Amino acid sequence: MEQKTDIKSMNLSELTEFVTQLGEKPFRARQLYRWMHIRHAESFEEMSDLSKAFAKKLSQCAALVCLKQEQVLISSIDGTRKYLFLLEDGNLIESVLMRYKHGNSVCISSQAGCRMGCRFCASGMDGLARGLTPSEMLDQVYRIEADTGERVSNVVVMGTGEPLDNFDALIRFTELLTDENGLNISQRNLTVSTCGIVPRIRELAEQEPKFTLALSLHAATQEKRAALMPIARKYEIHEVISACNYYFEKTGRRVTFEYSLVKGSNDSDEDAANLAGLLKGLNCHVNLIPVNPVESLSFVQPKEAVTLAFKNKLEKCGINVTIRREMGRDINGACGQLRKRYSNAMEKMEEQV
Ligand code: SAH
Repeated sequence: MEQKTDIKSMNLSELTEFVTQLGEKPFRARQLYRWMHIRHAESFEEMSDLSKAFAKKLSQCAALVCLKQEQVLISSIDGTRKYLFLLEDGNLIESVLMRYKHGNSVCISSQAGCRMGCRFCASGMDGLARGLTPSEMLDQVYRIEADTGERVSNVVVMGTGEPLDNFDALIRFTELLTDENGLNISQRNLTVSTCGIVPRIRELAEQEPKFTLALSLHAATQEKRAALMPIARKYEIHEVISACNYYFEKTGRRVTFEYSLVKGSNDSDEDAANLAGLLKGLNCHVNLIPVNPVESLSFVQPKEAVTLAFKNKLEKCGINVTIRREMGRDINGACGQLRKRYSNAMEKMEEQV
């Protein structure tokens, strides 16, 4: 059977061409785009202003990518919702909705699994299945809007996967998400987090749209970083910092450095001093994240006093710092753990049958 075209990954001009090739007027593309990207339709049949004949034609040759909500965990503390979605090919992905005073923020996955293998992270423990399509990235936001009936104003690409390892799909996703004909998320409200693939960061600096870059640093020296993150062996820490500086110069966007504090590993006074030295003169922001314990890994959070002392030390050196507030503490398995737990349970069930 011929593969159906993924029209939800198309921009409006590609969709217009697609629609005219099917013998329809160009304005049909706008209608279709609206149904997909604003009204979050789940089928062609419900697109009531399209002719029956056109809807039928579409269902024969076009795919309307729509994620299936497999599970949702809701925090009774702050209303954070953690979603597990099923993809067409059986892969599972996680997304999270966090409610803040300034609006709703959704954290999406960019890949099913991950091949970066950061030591403290649950997402990469089973390796990479595949990169997500732009439509699968978008639909995480769309399904969450449809499920809650609430508008999403911020999107962070900080879920499972390395977004810059799925580069073309990521760029298209950011284009569609910030498109004024679609959900029209402000470029200022979009953040992409990376483990530091240097040539891609430099490429991003030249691209539209511009968004906030978050860089997973987690250590202040090459040696310590390489012990936590295999990718650091490929891209040396000073190369990473210089690429971030380039990103700031080109885009005017201040880079956020993420630093997961791990007890006894990167949380000492000396580590803070090294970090301050490394970031000296850079227009940036540091986000400290007490490491999230992962089942089967032995990383432990520092005591709160140690985290605060680390923050103070950086501030004394003139660095902008925040400590990440933990959302949904009661449902807060570390990144990637819901997906992992769920697939392990499924495997067990299958073994039993
Ligand atoms: N691959 C991208 C985005 C996904 S991870 C990246 O590396 O940035 C999002 C953030 O969560 C990264 O900073 C990652 O290092 C961090 N992270 C992963 N596992 C964690 C854990 N157990 N505790 C704290 N932070 C973690």
